[in-house]
Amino acid sequence: MDVLQPGYAREEDDGEHVGSTVTLIRDGSVTIIVDPGMVASRHRLLAALTDLGVTPESVTDVVFSHHHPDHTVNAALFPAARIHDHWAIYDGDLWISREADGAELSPSVRLIATPGHTPEDITTLAATAEGVQACTHAWWGADGPAEDPFAPDPAVLTASRSRILAVASVIIPGHGPAFVPDETTPR
Ligand SMILES: [Zn+2]
Ligand SMILES: [Zn+2]
Repeated sequence: MDVLQPGYAREEDDGEHVGSTVTLIRDGSVTIIVDPGMVASRHRLLAALTDLGVTPESVTDVVFSHHHPDHTVNAALFPAARIHDHWAIYDGDLWISREADGAELSPSVRLIATPGHTPEDITTLAATAEGVQACTHAWWGADGPAEDPFAPDPAVLTASRSRILAVASVIIPGHGPAFVPDETTPR
């Protein structure tokens, strides 16, 4: 598990800059990119991949944590990858409908449905030597925000957060560095 870009969201003089957390997960023959979203430089993102010995063509799977463009716009950088979202797998022009909850991408990587930020949110759980790590937009960062301004129903987000915290020991949030949840983690 390697974070290629820790996400961010910040106001600068020329406007709002948003970067998605982009994560690489390798498990045997399976190479996964979670959230190929907005980056300041595509070249730098691909360089980070190359530094880890991975070519874009060798990525087998891409996961969209949800449908917002800041988490999806760069999917085409990985031409051979199948794409997974909450309700389907997209493989070339093949649309394979399925529910994401419980879908296994490899022996140690699976998806669970975690609606909240949007109704279409899913979390990628990866069992690693450091415990189960969760790539998820249920938190933007370690501090939350406690109340997600996009969440249509805060109770749904709360339920998903508790489902994630029950299994994950590391959270890789949508717009911040990885963190270990503790009693200050918004629930
Ligand atoms: Zn979003
Ligand atoms: Zn986001």
